[in-house]
Amino acid sequence: MAIREIRLKGDEILRKKCKEVKEITPKITTLLDDMADTMYQANGVGLAAPQVGILKRVVVIDTGEGLIEMINPVVVETKGAVVGDEGCLSLPGKTAQVERPEYVKVEALDRNGEKIVVEGTELLAVALCHETDHLDGILYTDKALPDTETIWEDKE
Ligand code: ZN
Repeated sequence: MAIREIRLKGDEILRKKCKEVKEITPKITTLLDDMADTMYQANGVGLAAPQVGILKRVVVIDTGEGLIEMINPVVVETKGAVVGDEGCLSLPGKTAQVERPEYVKVEALDRNGEKIVVEGTELLAVALCHETDHLDGILYTDKALPDTETIWEDKE
């Protein structure tokens, strides 16, 4: 268990494409543990490995309904579209409006290498899209609607 440093916008690593995890080694399970600790400490609802400087396809999400760990997640189905405010631990103190699917289905592996299917709507759908985008070097600001950014000056 350890808190890792969250990389901020401007860090080149956030723009790189992550590699698939070929084998779930102790290094990967430690990464999952550390990413969850880091996400909870920062009061985030999701974190992708490049945000802690690791170019592997690993994501953690917790939208308030328990921790979801995903290795090699792939969005396999989406439905609908909805616009909502979105922020990112790598861009602290800012939000903007982004159009995302209403429903998202993702396939991934868990830490035991078992296939899992995660389906989400609302905040979970946003988090699933946002975090898998990170694995391809995409930030929500790339998809934000023009002139919708809010800057929260008092963010601690
Ligand atoms: Zn993010």
